[in-house]
Amino acid sequence: MEEKKTEGQKLNELLSYETKSAWEKISEAEKEQVFNFCSQYISFLNKAKTERESADELIRLAESKGFKNFEALNGKLNPGDKVYLSNRSKTIMLAVIGEEPIDKGINAVGAHIDSPRLDLKQNPLYEDSGLGLLKTHYYGGIKKYQWTAMPLAIHGVVIKQDGTKVNIVIGEDDSDPVFCVTDLLPHLANEQMQKKMSEGITGESLNILIGNEPYKDDKVKEKVKLNLLKIINEKHGIKEKDFLTAELEVIPAIKARDVGIDRSLVGGYGQDDRVCAYAAAIAIMEMEKPKKTAICVLADKEEIGSVGNTGMKSRAFENFLAELVEVTGEYSALKVSRALRSSRMLSADVNAAVDPTYDGVMEKRNAAFMGKGVCVTKYTGAGGKYQANDAHAEFLGEVCQLLDKENIVWQIGELGKVDQGGGGTIAGYLANLGMDVVDCGVALLSMHAPFEIASKVDIYMAYRAYLAFLK
Ligand code: MN
Ligand code: MN
Repeated sequence: MEEKKTEGQKLNELLSYETKSAWEKISEAEKEQVFNFCSQYISFLNKAKTERESADELIRLAESKGFKNFEALNGKLNPGDKVYLSNRSKTIMLAVIGEEPIDKGINAVGAHIDSPRLDLKQNPLYEDSGLGLLKTHYYGGIKKYQWTAMPLAIHGVVIKQDGTKVNIVIGEDDSDPVFCVTDLLPHLANEQMQKKMSEGITGESLNILIGNEPYKDDKVKEKVKLNLLKIINEKHGIKEKDFLTAELEVIPAIKARDVGIDRSLVGGYGQDDRVCAYAAAIAIMEMEKPKKTAICVLADKEEIGSVGNTGMKSRAFENFLAELVEVTGEYSALKVSRALRSSRMLSADVNAAVDPTYDGVMEKRNAAFMGKGVCVTKYTGAGGKYQANDAHAEFLGEVCQLLDKENIVWQIGELGKVDQGGGGTIAGYLANLGMDVVDCGVALLSMHAPFEIASKVDIYMAYRAYLAFLK
């Protein structure tokens, strides 16, 4: 027989807020869905390791679900129609037209598909001490020491002098060569090890090793470099000058995979923010005919401040909305501003989960934990909420009530202790347009490292949250 609850226990249940692992809250059937969803997600991570590849892969998926290229359309759109717009193959926007006119407001989810990495400099190739090397300039916030002594791949595009574009992916196939940034042996690292961690490896020391064999001709000065140029030219039709007009990204040559004996976690490069981007994209691809138009924005350049015409500070989103107003009725600037004023958005980006090895940086009553569900973050920012979006309680209430109603396990999460540091997302730039925005995403361990960790149940809850919100 079950023991009878005391008055205090009953009152405690009624009044107190306690969190529980999402794993304990889901059924066996839902657990199976969690694992299935995440195995699809892992194959996505392995196909889409850069912003361009993510845009390509998600467009391919969207087309298979009936989304049409907005730029190839002519004529009007009707409720239930599905379109996508690619902004320079780096940012994509997906929309499902709703029954209500767009000036009544839309529901949107926005994530980003760029991740921290090493970009090749414009004139990267050089030879020193019998080695062929490439100069890099890192992109986004990295801990430089994490990028040494590990296998790296090169992805990107080269625009040749005749205007043709060459796609490059080297280091992903098991038969491909890989590259690396070398590090100093401990035996000779006395001086290096005395330095601050931020100075032990400098930006200019992140050079990529790509070869060692000289071209056999004593009349040539840089023989290793020439031999590399010869191979690159034979394989890809590229000359040294073509690097000047290239975008080549150096990223970890490691595969995303299950982590843990219980396989409860996903490890992989670029989960910030492809984890939310994938969950949001899959959610909108499942929409049929919503009441309000649903939009999913997957942006570039978040890691360097959302700048440029593919970043969220640009007017690309606003312009797309204007286009949608026109093709679902008749354009007017007033309709666009009314749409923005009455729209709601989830800024789908990752947060930091409590890491017991480094829990001193977190304030545990307000931090996110692995496995406790999708993380809702009222404000990001740093040093007194500086530059935070700080969502309104009214909107926060609306979102959290929806999550409860749909049985979606969620938690709150503030990024670290007050005055410990901080960060930002795209939330503020969309709120600037007049929309209600709140951050809602997956908490990670080792964020921005070459191998980031997410809990499978959190990924699945994020997907369910985005789907419920868009509906
Ligand atoms: Mn992010
Ligand atoms: Mn980030």
